[in-house]
Amino acid sequence: MAQQKIIQTAGRDALGEFAPEFARLNDDVLFGEEWSRNDLLSLRDRSVVTVTALISQGITDSSLLHHLQNAKQNGITRTEIAEIITHAAFYAGWPKAWAAFRLAKDVWNEEPTDSDDAKAEFEREMIFPIGEPNTAYAQYFTGKSYLAPISSEQVTVANVTFEPGCRNNWHIHKASSGGGQMLIGVAGRGWYQQEGQEAVEILPGTVIHIPANVKHWHGAASDSWFAHLAFSVPGEETQNVWLEPVTDEVYGKLD
Ligand code: MN
Repeated sequence: MAQQKIIQTAGRDALGEFAPEFARLNDDVLFGEEWSRNDLLSLRDRSVVTVTALISQGITDSSLLHHLQNAKQNGITRTEIAEIITHAAFYAGWPKAWAAFRLAKDVWNEEPTDSDDAKAEFEREMIFPIGEPNTAYAQYFTGKSYLAPISSEQVTVANVTFEPGCRNNWHIHKASSGGGQMLIGVAGRGWYQQEGQEAVEILPGTVIHIPANVKHWHGAASDSWFAHLAFSVPGEETQNVWLEPVTDEVYGKLD
C-alpha cells in the first residue's frame, strides 16, 4: 500500500498565532507524520483507534465529531460504527456510548437509497433471509450479491441473492465422483447457463441440476432481483474452480 500524506491545517487555522508550536505539532507531526504512515496501518484502522480512544475518555465535543466524519470518509459504514460504539460501550462506559451515538447518528444520517429500498422490498417477499453482503466471493461476481447460510448439516444449503444484472463468473464444481450443485429459485427472476447451451430462466420453484465438472454460471435477470437456494451435492475431491466473468455481450443477449 502506498503512503498517502495527510495535509492538515486545523492547528494553524485555529491556533497558529496563539500557540504556533502546538499548531505545528498537530498539523505536521500528528497528521503529517503519524496519520500519514497509512502504509503501515490504514486510515480506516487509525480512525477506529482514534474514535475509540476519544469515546473512552468521554470526549464528545467537536473533536469526536470531526473524527467521526473522518471515519466515515475513511470507509467506516453506518453498521460498522454502530458496532464499534456498541463494543466500546462495554469497556469505556455506557453513557459515553450514548453521547457518541448522538453524534454518529447525525454523521451517518444518509437517506436510504432507492437500491436499499428495492432490496428491503425484495427481502420482504422472500421466505429465506437475504443475509450479508457476499464479500468472500465478491471477486467472482459481477454486481452485488448476498449470502445467507441455511443449512450446514447433511447437505450444505445457502440462499444467494443477486441484485438486478448481478451474476457469478463462469465456474466449475469439480469432483472425482458425486458432487455438483442443485439450485432452486426462491424469488425474482434469474438465469442458469451451461457452456455451449441456451440459458435457462429460473423462477421461484424452478429446480436446476448442475452436474459436477460442467462449466456454467447463474445470476439475476437484468431487470429483476433474484434469489436461489444453492445445494452443494456431496462428492469426492470436491473443489470449486472460478473462471472468467460472463461478458456483457453474452449476458446482454438474454431477456
Ligand atoms: Mn454453480
